[in-house]
Amino acid sequence: MKIVILGGGIAGISLAKFLQKRKEINEIIIIEKESYLGGLLRSFKIKKIFYDVGPHIIFSKNKNILNVILKILGKNKNKIRRSNKIIYDQNTLIKYPFENELYKLPKRDLNFALNKFLKNKFSNISVKTMKDFFLKNFGEGIFKLYLGPYNNKIWKMNTSKLDTQMVDRIPRPPDDDIIKSAKGIDTEGYKHQLYFHYPKKGGIQSLFDAFFKKLTKKVRVFTSVKLNKINRINKKYSLKTSKGNFVCDKVYSTIPLNEFYKYYKKSVSLKKTSEKLQYNSIIIAMINIKGNIGGDNFALMVPNKEIIFHRISKLDFLGKNYSIKNSTTFQIEITFKNKSKIGKMTNKEIYKNIYAGLKKLNFIKRKQDINFQSIKKFKYAYVIYNLNHRKNVDKLLNYYGEHGFEFLGRWGSWEYLNSDQVILQAFEKSKKFNYEKK
Ligand SMILES: Cc1cc2nc3c(=O)[nH]c(=O)nc-3n(C[C@H](O)[C@H](O)[C@H](O)COP(=O)(O)OP(=O)(O)OC[C@H]3O[C@@H](n4cnc5c(N)ncnc54)[C@H](O)[C@@H]3O)c2cc1C
Repeated sequence: MKIVILGGGIAGISLAKFLQKRKEINEIIIIEKESYLGGLLRSFKIKKIFYDVGPHIIFSKNKNILNVILKILGKNKNKIRRSNKIIYDQNTLIKYPFENELYKLPKRDLNFALNKFLKNKFSNISVKTMKDFFLKNFGEGIFKLYLGPYNNKIWKMNTSKLDTQMVDRIPRPPDDDIIKSAKGIDTEGYKHQLYFHYPKKGGIQSLFDAFFKKLTKKVRVFTSVKLNKINRINKKYSLKTSKGNFVCDKVYSTIPLNEFYKYYKKSVSLKKTSEKLQYNSIIIAMINIKGNIGGDNFALMVPNKEIIFHRISKLDFLGKNYSIKNSTTFQIEITFKNKSKIGKMTNKEIYKNIYAGLKKLNFIKRKQDINFQSIKKFKYAYVIYNLNHRKNVDKLLNYYGEHGFEFLGRWGSWEYLNSDQVILQAFEKSKKFNYEKK
């Protein structure tokens, strides 16, 4: 059998790694449109510092997949304890997750958060949106003080317009924990992310590279390929591309699901549904600043809507290879929608807004405090779970599925998946392939 995989990110590469063991498969072809592989699992080097598309930490609820990832990284990994904070205001840093350090809030806000949690008028509502979920589980206080503003900033839309698929898994904090946290007694919350791993050197791309190195001669990788059309003839697939025609028995797609209609049966109805899938893009800025700033913390969430970025991460926290003496390297994240005000900004305007935000946080006093900087934009960053997400995604997956295509990856399956979940998906697809052949 001959297999084609569309897309050379971690979904495509890990699927090839798992499938190459199958004896029935003679050849696996990976088709990537860019001149480089890696997709979102790439890292960029400026001076000696590697930075990712937003810091990519390694963690997983699935122990088996975590072990696969850690094994493949070999010695190139550090285990790090989380120290994330919410910059509530200039004087108040609250440990993440927010509800675990309520006592740090100004007194009036603390009472608001605690009372609305303990006597929650939303505790019996039926949950249809992300906003309902937050109100029901955390109360109006925690919602209005942090969860609402922060999420509006990331999603660039109101949480009442988002469904619950992404948040359903977050547990309701126990009353006792909230009471303790209001009194100043330490609690942790979200323990599965308390410790994470990160490559000692090379950024997260070294994880991708480690997977890539495991590919055997059975796998052929083509980059800079323009895919033109896919036809299905007698249970075989023929892919017309800028690098020639590929004929195969099975196609796995990890490319954005909303674009697949362009290549297969250009129907108006598929196009219409595809255009309803929503996503956010992201700007990543890396800024090296004079002095040691931000304390012994990694990610700092910024719910303040007057500041352009929602998260700023101190890369020095990741180890000595990500740190330059007498300076601090921050990675800054700004989401945006196509054609929005931020989307239309030039790099100069973006930097200007970032400087204004850093000044507001007292991280810099003047532009001269910055040693060097870099900016990059990525079109596909976050899947948006708008209220019709499930219906539209299922419609497309079912249609293409009936035609024998398989989809995986963050964009192929159009789900908010981290790389561990993408690798798990690839593993499960490879197992299912075996089963189908039996
Ligand atoms: C800001 C941010 C932070 C994140 N943080 C974490 C984290 O801390 N931990 C974690 O585990 N995960 C994190 N993730 C998620 C992680 O990046 C993804 O789960 C993973 O990289 C997705 O891999 P993928 O192969 O599915 O998709 P991609 O990496 O998007 O790969 C898809 C590939 O398909 C190619 N392609 C597109 N169109 C075509 C076409 N027409 N023809 C051929 N090729 C095409 C693309 O060029 C790309 O190479 C984060 C993501 C973002 C955006």
